[in-house]
Amino acid sequence: MSYIEKFFKHFWMICKHKYWVFYFACKCGIPVRGFLHDFSKFHPTEFFESVKYYTGTKSPIVSCKEDKGYSLAWLHHKGHNPHHYEYWVDNLDKGGIPLLIPFKYCVEMTCDWLAAGKAYQGKEFSYESELKWWNNKKKELQHSMDSRIIEFFEFVFNDLAYNKNLTKKMLDYYYHIAISPREKYVDNSEYEYGHNVPSHVGKDEDYYLYHKD
Ligand SMILES: [Zn+2]
Repeated sequence: MSYIEKFFKHFWMICKHKYWVFYFACKCGIPVRGFLHDFSKFHPTEFFESVKYYTGTKSPIVSCKEDKGYSLAWLHHKGHNPHHYEYWVDNLDKGGIPLLIPFKYCVEMTCDWLAAGKAYQGKEFSYESELKWWNNKKKELQHSMDSRIIEFFEFVFNDLAYNKNLTKKMLDYYYHIAISPREKYVDNSEYEYGHNVPSHVGKDEDYYLYHKD
């Protein structure tokens, strides 16, 4: 593939991804976040590396990492975009401490993942296959995502596979349950997917702190 071809195909890929994130973001009531999503992909550090490694069949960031062992585009991207959970991991020299991720970025992350599903599966896309993807993904997250945020996504992807209805109200509901003190919900029928009650105990004030828009 010529450089010019890779240039325009990568540009088009970003636009398509932004379109689908915007589509899901509108359902979740965050159209502005959806519109601004991933603009840093047009920054020269991110854009030109990804043009160089563009193949159309897999992520240019993955290709670059395979080639060089690291990707400056990725370091730039995760450092500038709080909708990536990697943005919220500190103290790497102590093994990594994942912080609690504010609600609005959890919503944007949901939209980003669903949009990626649309890109990879096209017409085959379904919320059931997204749940399958999540069930694999969560195995990698033990040290890089707060257990309460993992649980939030656990609720969300299960609910989506079951009810197939993405709304801000639903996300808000599960964020509240995931973040709030556990004992409140253990014996509660509302706690639908709580088969494995995690060991963490959230703080009541966390929900209000992290839910502000
Ligand atoms: Zn991103």
